[in-house]
Amino acid sequence: MRAHALIHGRESSKLNLLGLPAPSLVEFFESMDEKPYRARQIMRWVYQRQVLDFAAMTDLSAALRKQLATIATLDVPGALANEHSADGTRKWLLNVGAGQAVETVFIPEPNRGTLCISSQAGCALDCAFCATGHQGFNRNLSAAEILGQVVLASRELNGTPVTNVVFMGMGEPLANYRNVLPVVKLLIDDQAYGLSRRRVTISTAGLVPQILRLATECNVALAVSLHAPTDELRDRLVPINRVHPIEELLDACWKYAEGLASRQITFEYVMLDGVNDSVPQARLLARLLKNRPAKVNLIPFNAFPEGRFRCSSPHTIEQFWQTLKAAGLIATIRRPRGDDIAAACGQLAGRVHDRQRVRLGDKVIGASTL
Ligand code: SAH
Repeated sequence: MRAHALIHGRESSKLNLLGLPAPSLVEFFESMDEKPYRARQIMRWVYQRQVLDFAAMTDLSAALRKQLATIATLDVPGALANEHSADGTRKWLLNVGAGQAVETVFIPEPNRGTLCISSQAGCALDCAFCATGHQGFNRNLSAAEILGQVVLASRELNGTPVTNVVFMGMGEPLANYRNVLPVVKLLIDDQAYGLSRRRVTISTAGLVPQILRLATECNVALAVSLHAPTDELRDRLVPINRVHPIEELLDACWKYAEGLASRQITFEYVMLDGVNDSVPQARLLARLLKNRPAKVNLIPFNAFPEGRFRCSSPHTIEQFWQTLKAAGLIATIRRPRGDDIAAACGQLAGRVHDRQRVRLGDKVIGASTL
């Protein structure tokens, strides 16, 4: 038995069916001389009823249930910790093996329940104001580890439905495109979670080639972490801007929006005191997005222990928001949730060990200059 199999307490020779794309699951059953509809049955058990024990899948024959248990698993990352915020937000720290742990957050609201999931252990993009980026990058999560967060939360929420899923936890989802795409497809598949495309949001710091690819492969809702109205400033805050500057990024966004049936792209803008929050900067931002399928979400900066920034004052945020609105933009201010349990945007640190010392920011632009 190999080392990682021992860590998970499972035999590595078994195939984890979690997160497997529907066509691969069909192939799996066909290879066992079973009917293709077995794939649908398994998907319903796992994703709609949160049943992970083959023995409990009563519409499969006893022989098939037994055989499945010998060759396959439905392996969800285990929870190392579980916190409840005073505002109802919940956070889980999930064991993804070898000392690494990632975080998942559930945000209840009156008419919906949003699950914020992680796609990587750590992150290589090195955004100047983000706790995850601060840690560096360890590895991409597998499709099973990403979708396992939805399975685990759905089980733990005891009937409270997850109505929306956002890829705004740890990591850059489009840098792990290969494993994120099958998860997105299962989230919107009627045989699995059956969420509408509008209720699944990929948030990206601006990986242009992957945005264009996603447009053709699975055009779910898109959020773009803009955070600055000029390349000079964005180069420093979001280093990937040095590879894909604002004009190139926005061109890709407008192409993406063409496939969205009149829906808008959300531009996230973290409010950093004295850095990106002036009225002239709001006017520049409005100029970039005016008359485009765009809305702006202003995010009050959430502090984390090693952070060098402060959040803009409520008055400054209000003024910035008013300036955008006066210029004809749709803009909202995000209400921080779960900050008492470090579950708010940009606070997710998890446990990332053995990180690669070279982060994208170092590699592409040299050490961060802010
Ligand atoms: N890598 C993806 C998704 C992860 S972060 C992305 O960049 O979009 C989700 C959002 O939280 C992003 O808009 C990110 O810029 C923002 N964010 C990061 N650190 C933050 C902080 N300390 N306070 C507020 N928002 C933060």
